[in-house]
Amino acid sequence: MTRKYVIRTFGCQMNVHDSERLAGLLEADGMVAADDVEDADLVLLNTCCIRENADNKLYGTLGHLVSVKARNPGMQIAVGGCLAQKDRDLIQARVPQVDAVFGTHNVGRAAELLREAAATGTAVMEILDEEDAFPSALPVHRELPYTAWVTIQIGCDNSCAFCIVPSVRGKEISRPFDEVVGEVQGLAGAGTVEVTLLGQNVNSYGRDLTHRRPLFAELLRAVGEVDGIRRVRFTSPHPKDLRPETIAAMAEAPAVCEHLHLPLQSGSDRTLAAMHRGYTAARYLERLAAARAAIDDLAVTTDIIVGFPGETDDDFERTLEVAAEAAYDSAYTFVYSPRPGTEAAEMVDRFVPAEVVAERFERLTVVVERSALARHQARIGRVEEVVVEGPSKKHPAVATGRTRQNKLVHFPVDGAIPAAGSFADVRVTGSAAHFLRGELVGLTARPRHKTRIPLAVV
Ligand code: SF4
Repeated sequence: MTRKYVIRTFGCQMNVHDSERLAGLLEADGMVAADDVEDADLVLLNTCCIRENADNKLYGTLGHLVSVKARNPGMQIAVGGCLAQKDRDLIQARVPQVDAVFGTHNVGRAAELLREAAATGTAVMEILDEEDAFPSALPVHRELPYTAWVTIQIGCDNSCAFCIVPSVRGKEISRPFDEVVGEVQGLAGAGTVEVTLLGQNVNSYGRDLTHRRPLFAELLRAVGEVDGIRRVRFTSPHPKDLRPETIAAMAEAPAVCEHLHLPLQSGSDRTLAAMHRGYTAARYLERLAAARAAIDDLAVTTDIIVGFPGETDDDFERTLEVAAEAAYDSAYTFVYSPRPGTEAAEMVDRFVPAEVVAERFERLTVVVERSALARHQARIGRVEEVVVEGPSKKHPAVATGRTRQNKLVHFPVDGAIPAAGSFADVRVTGSAAHFLRGELVGLTARPRHKTRIPLAVV
């Protein structure tokens, strides 16, 4: 009988894409997706240790799965991803019902490990400490037919004090240039119109391939020239490594979208130094100004941490000032929470009281929403190119899509919602801090539609 799997994904886009690769791998091994864990022969948890309470979420989910396994003893439970890499044998020590644990460097071995566990009847664990080269390409089961993530780099050579990524994902390794372009060509041939290039620090892509000369700008241009690719996005660039040639490629390559996600983290030079971010607020704003001057109609988003250990009122005022000057289109604002194993987690004596952080967070939200709203209001009356995602979650007769600036737009349609991946011209008629409203002017293309794959993101 055909075995069925469910993958539960925790965390970032890198993990979501790893889950697509895991799904591809399991399907190449003869399995098919199940609708529910009750119906599954394998439940694989792809974990993350960047988000808060990652351990609680993992062990809470495992607790539930153990009760499902008690009713269905043939079911396998596997844990992969960052938390598995970090906690290693702790997972099976705490939950002996787990059949397989694998880390971030051996995703490609998941199916083999599960077969080994089934054949021997014993739990297996395999964690590799480092990778020497970009892992060979795996079959990928894409979540959406018209848009795809493409990994261009793994690991990170920086050492931000709050971040666990370098210790769980290892050093930066760039994927060979031709392999990236080849994957994008294959995707375009199968109907993908939009790709997002993924890496922890995409601006330094290629440094390890060329004796320190980054190749990211060339990669953007090459991917943008692939026939059939109409939108190229990327995440995340590091502000210290944003180079003029990348800005030029964004300005000149027609397919590269006018959206830059440039993580600020703090507007205080003192805090930025304590975080080891490698830039000052002035340098950040200078690079942002250069990008805005070169790239017409650029949308800018960011990440900001509130309450990093030792952050004073004065430090926070600087963050408010920089956020106001940067006039973001939106920002992911985070309350600092310690990640065990990071430098900042040791700064216990400098933790900022929760009520102070909460008040600062509210003030920052007001500043960010003010600029987001103003920037959205300025778009009213414009006709935007939108890629349709599907029906709106709240109103099935309203279509939802994204502009080149990655803004969500809701617009009513007469009759059926256009197929996901269709291009539409939409006139913006209204705005809020987090989305736009519009009216359909016309559909401009209708690429092939394929089936959606069930991958749950927790
Ligand atoms: S650049 Fe800093 S925040 Fe980003 S992954 Fe590397 S260490 Fe973490």
